[in-house]
Parts: sequence; C-alpha cells; structure tokens
Amino acid sequence: MFGRIALLGFGLIGGSIARAAKAQGLAGEIVTTARSEKSRQRVRELNVVDRVTENNIEAVKGADLVILCIPVGDCGPVAKEIAPHLKPGAITSDVGSVKGSVVREMAPHLPAGVHFVPAHPVAGTEHSGPDSGFAELFVNRWCILTPPAGTNPAAVEKLHTFWTAIGAKVEVMTPDHHDLVLAITSHLPHLIAYTIVGTADELEQVTSSEVMQFSASGFRDFTRIAASDPTMWRDVFLANKEAVLEMLGTFNEDLAKLTRAIRRGDGEALFEHFTRTRAIRRGIIQIGQDSAAPDFGRPHPSLPPVPKPYSGE
Ligand code: NAP
Repeated sequence: MFGRIALLGFGLIGGSIARAAKAQGLAGEIVTTARSEKSRQRVRELNVVDRVTENNIEAVKGADLVILCIPVGDCGPVAKEIAPHLKPGAITSDVGSVKGSVVREMAPHLPAGVHFVPAHPVAGTEHSGPDSGFAELFVNRWCILTPPAGTNPAAVEKLHTFWTAIGAKVEVMTPDHHDLVLAITSHLPHLIAYTIVGTADELEQVTSSEVMQFSASGFRDFTRIAASDPTMWRDVFLANKEAVLEMLGTFNEDLAKLTRAIRRGDGEALFEHFTRTRAIRRGIIQIGQDSAAPDFGRPHPSLPPVPKPYSGE
C-alpha cells in the first residue's frame, strides 16, 4: 500500500501500528525512531521494523506515509522539524488523543503538496513503551479521521484503507466534534479515575492497605485507568481544556443531583438512574465494544479444599 512508512515514536501506538502493518504487508519498508537512545536500542532488539533512525528528520526522508505516534504536546514542534524534509505527495498523520490543538499546531508547518490527515485510534491499554504494542490492538476498534477542510479526498481514502487493513473501523468527523465526544467517553473517565484513586490514597480513616485488600468491590477497575501514562494524560488535559471543562460542568450538576437523592433518601431517583446506566453497558456489549463475560472475563480460581472440622483438640 505504501513504499515506505515512517513512524515517529515507537510506544504502545507506534509499536502496534508497526507490528500490524508488518503482519499485513502494507509497506515496502517501515522506518521508525524514538526520542531516547534507550528506546531506539530496544526497538532494534525487537526486530519488528526494517530501520531505526537516530532522529525524526532521517526517518521521514522518502516516506510516503508519516505518522507521529508521540505525545500530543510534541506534535507541533516535531511537525516544524520534519516539514522541510517531507516527500512531496506524502500523507502526514498522527494518532493524538486530542485533535483540535494538534491540527492547529501541525497544519501551519506542513508544506503545500503534503496531505495532512489527522487520526485518532480509539484503542489502548494502560501500558506504554516499545514492548507494550501488539498487532491486534486496533482490531474492531474505531479510528477517527479529522481531515481539515480542503484535504485531498484520495489521501483521506488511502489512510482510511490503511486503518481498515490493520483491523480498525473508520469514522470521519471534524476535530472540534471529536474533542467533545472524546471529552465524555475518554478524558472525563480518566479524570474521575485519577481523582478517586488519589482520594482513596489520602484517606485517614481507611488505610491504603485496606483500600488495596478490598479493591475487588469496584475500586480496582478505576486503578487500571488511573495507571495510564502521566505524560500522555497531562498533555490531553492541557490540549482539550475547553471540551473537558464543558463536560465536567455537566458532570458536576449530575453528581449534585445524585448527592441530593442520597441525602434525601430518594430511592426512586437512585433506582431510575442506575437502571438507565445499566442499559448503556448492555448497549456497549451489543455493538461488540466489550465482552459480555461477567467481571470483564477475569478468571476465578477454583474453590479451596474444605478444611477439616475442628476436633476440639
Ligand atoms: P508511549 O508508549 O509513551 O510512546 C511514545 C513514543 O514517542 C516513545 O517512543 C517516545 O520515545 C516517543 N517520543 C516522544 N517524544 C518524541 C519526539 N519529540 N520525537 C520522537 N519521538 C518521540 O505513548 P503512546 O501510548 O504510544 O501514545 C502516543 C500517542 O498516541 C499520544 O499522542 C496519545 O495521545 C495517542 N494515543 C494513545 C493511546 C493510549 O491508550 N496509550 C490511545 C490512542 C491514542 P521515548 O521512549 O524515547 O521517550
């Protein structure tokens, strides 16, 4: 599909794209780089790409598709750095979790004749770094493309086909709408998880060892999200400030309503609310975005041997 693909950044997302593109035979050559020599060395050892370069400029030379797989806050400066070295006619893309700020910061640097098609694969785990990626990460997950007005439709179509070939389902929307949708489906849940895990850690009446010991009652599901990469999430909240604050305003109003229902002993309001939210979980399972297995499919160990009855001795 592409003579040469350059992936700037080889962490969870860059490493997964590399593995999937290689497995599907989508590039004549896959070139990558990372910021530190330690990561570049690890990528060489992993042996999943054709070439690891010392820097971004070397990586993009002659590439037909360039994808920035780096934190959102670095996309503007890196676009500026690579712009003079991009091949005419190349497609330049990214995978950032925020789109409005990335488009505003990258687009002004990119030369005419280079097609800019920003993208966000809505898939991930709480792991990062060169070892964290896997080829199947995007299978059956959505990838949202947010091409600025006037982007060459053939370039959008080609990137659409690329993401489909590595298993994703593709949707196109404006950067601003993307940021609103992701503020409620991803950014706010992460903020809530970061908050509740921090709150539990600072409690005085309940010890942190008790919090960990009894975490299976709900808390541990928040801890997975709260273990996500601090650099990535700092950048997401700085870059999507407006949309997150808007959704947070609505969330605070709804939290106040539930607080009032608890204070007033309004069981009917609580029951009605919880019934509505349960239907949303069922809807997610129905459209294949999660497994129907109870407790996220966690394995349950077998029953222990029955202890001998106390003999009184
Ligand atoms: P990651 O695992 O931490 O990997 C980031 C990679 O970028 C590392 O290889 C890092 O190199 C490299 N890097 C950082 N700054 C660079 C620079 N200036 N020039 C070249 N390489 C640079 O991060 P990730 O989870 O893959 O996230 C990457 C992007 O994907 C972010 O924009 C994020 O918003 C987006 N995204 C993430 C997820 C998710 O669940 N994680 C999901 C969808 C989209 P070093 O290792 O040397 O630091």
